Amino acid sequence: MSNLLKDDPTPLDFEVGPIRPPSEARSLLVRVSRNCPWNKCTFCPVYKKRKFSRRPVEDVEADIEAMGRVRDRLLDVAAERSGSGGMTQQVIHRVMQDAPLHAGIGQVALFLASGGKTVFLQDANSLLLKPPDLARVVRKIKEVFPEVERITSYARSQTLARTPVEGLAELLEAGLNRIHVGLETGSDTLLKRVRKGCTKDQHIRGGRNVIDAGMELSEYVMPGLGGVNLWEEHADETADALNQINPHFIRLRSLGLRSGTGLREEFDAAGFDPLDDDGVVREIRRFINGLDSIRSRVVSDHILNLLEEVEGELPGDKQRLLDVLDGYLELPDEDRLMFQLGRRMGALRSVEELDAPRIRQQLAPVVQQAQAHPEGPAALIRELITRFI
Ligand code: SF4
Repeated sequence: MSNLLKDDPTPLDFEVGPIRPPSEARSLLVRVSRNCPWNKCTFCPVYKKRKFSRRPVEDVEADIEAMGRVRDRLLDVAAERSGSGGMTQQVIHRVMQDAPLHAGIGQVALFLASGGKTVFLQDANSLLLKPPDLARVVRKIKEVFPEVERITSYARSQTLARTPVEGLAELLEAGLNRIHVGLETGSDTLLKRVRKGCTKDQHIRGGRNVIDAGMELSEYVMPGLGGVNLWEEHADETADALNQINPHFIRLRSLGLRSGTGLREEFDAAGFDPLDDDGVVREIRRFINGLDSIRSRVVSDHILNLLEEVEGELPGDKQRLLDVLDGYLELPDEDRLMFQLGRRMGALRSVEELDAPRIRQQLAPVVQQAQAHPEGPAALIRELITRFI
């Protein structure tokens, strides 16, 4: 089999940005702009010290064509290997070995292996492109990858709030059918404190514009962001904002105090008092309890979330979600600590797994170590969390 990357005479190069939402882990990544136009949120480390720019549409179109060529080559390799023309684990493994030459090629392989139906537009706020330019990019994706069914993008509420519904509807018509928004909180006090650069009202108007245009809307909430002082306001105001938006998805993405961020510096200078894991679960309980009269899917798909089981459809699953949270909060102190440590170490994923004697045996010494930590168990858990981020 020829070497997919090294022997290829045609240009296979294209740009890939640094992040995508967890739900887009297997999507084709098309970079339409670079970095974040706002770049000031105190909890966010991603694009710091990098300047925002819109990429010329011609360059993005050339990237999409290059990805199309990669797709064709990958399918040739898969046919050589398996005779069926399909992507196999072996082919993906082979591509991943070559991928250091270009990380995006491994992403194309993942996209194909997952059915080749979803695309994510990078980076932080693609809606800042002129609507005709963005529509052109989306149409190019549909032309080169006609089997794609879902095209999504991040967008800031501040931008969405001033984008006319008709403009969003045109983008939907072109094929952009889902928007991810980092709502984080509905509390104006907290939005200001973390320098989110928008208000609760803009979150609501931006979200409603997306819904009214007929697109799917995914709103990210950040449990823990209010810390000890603002957790109740954070929970109540966020629930109130989402009750007014009624998004398709509410996704939990818990706060991580990442190094290099303003919030981490505040914490180091004793200016931010974070909630411990139990406090975050209590906050999520209050938040879920406040969600009312909406039809949204709650998703807990971020690695920093303690409880993955907080997932379900509202309104029908609301009581079950509260029961999951209460079930955790009613555990004995030592079991809650054991679960927190086990989850952060990757030893378990659900509370039920605490029933396994093997897991308890494995985690008992870590619980002792955490209890003996000079700054308390929460400090050890914070150390473990930083390994994930
Ligand atoms: S708008 Fe998003 S990407 Fe930009 S700084 Fe804030 S959280 Fe980070």
